[in-house]
Amino acid sequence: MPNEMEKQTKEILSFARYAGTSLAGIADLHLLKNVDTYGGLSLKNFRYAVSVAIALPSCAIEMITAEDPGMLYAHAYRTANLALDSITLKVAGKISGKGYRALAVPASMRVDQKNHLGHVSHKPFAWAAGLGWIGRNGLLINPTYGSRIRLATALTDMPLKPGKPMDNRCGECRLCVLSCPSKALRYSNFEVRPVSREEILDANKCYERLSKNKELLAKKHHMVEHAAHICGMCIKVCPFGKVNVKRGHPSGYG
Ligand code: SF4
Ligand code: SF4
Repeated sequence: MPNEMEKQTKEILSFARYAGTSLAGIADLHLLKNVDTYGGLSLKNFRYAVSVAIALPSCAIEMITAEDPGMLYAHAYRTANLALDSITLKVAGKISGKGYRALAVPASMRVDQKNHLGHVSHKPFAWAAGLGWIGRNGLLINPTYGSRIRLATALTDMPLKPGKPMDNRCGECRLCVLSCPSKALRYSNFEVRPVSREEILDANKCYERLSKNKELLAKKHHMVEHAAHICGMCIKVCPFGKVNVKRGHPSGYG
């Protein structure tokens, strides 16, 4: 017989899936004590997180080149962030309606302009919820979607049954590091999660590329509203998430 916590978990995850997520899971915040937050966000009064993901269209990801992320990826990126914000708002509303504390954290809102940071990185929550592992590209890698996903988080104190974190499956692979057009990724051998962003990435080099691409999308493709800070090369090359490609991974996984 499922207990109350299991019943609530099932209800919230079904609600998130019905609201349009591709993946949803519960993270235990006890696993994430050293996560940095910005823009006034505090995890203090929360115990769990509902981590959600929306899959980006693989065909748009395959059109990304080192010179141009492409209009379709830019559009999918923006639209996925908006959809995620709508889903986490609904999830938080559902939880609040049951009398618990809940907060939807924006999917992508920069609150530290100098260091290019949002309220919190959503990746550790997705890892703790069992949606994937942190790859050498610094992104969450799901066995099915790779990092062709966007993430968001709703925090709560509602008792929920957390998922189980996945082991890292990058193995010896370094395709993302070799394919980065800005040479921003460092080959790092962390086992679970990198200690800091600097361990895996030169954030300034990456951001320069993202800014250049935003300009390109605005000028070459005349994208005004959908010109985004994107690149996507380290997403595209990852063997996890590739479709219509015979599964086979440099590390022997996949
Ligand atoms: S987003 Fe582009 S520039 Fe940044 S790390 Fe990935 S491949 Fe490199
Ligand atoms: S490309 Fe390879 S090393 Fe990079 S995240 Fe994917 S599996 Fe890991």
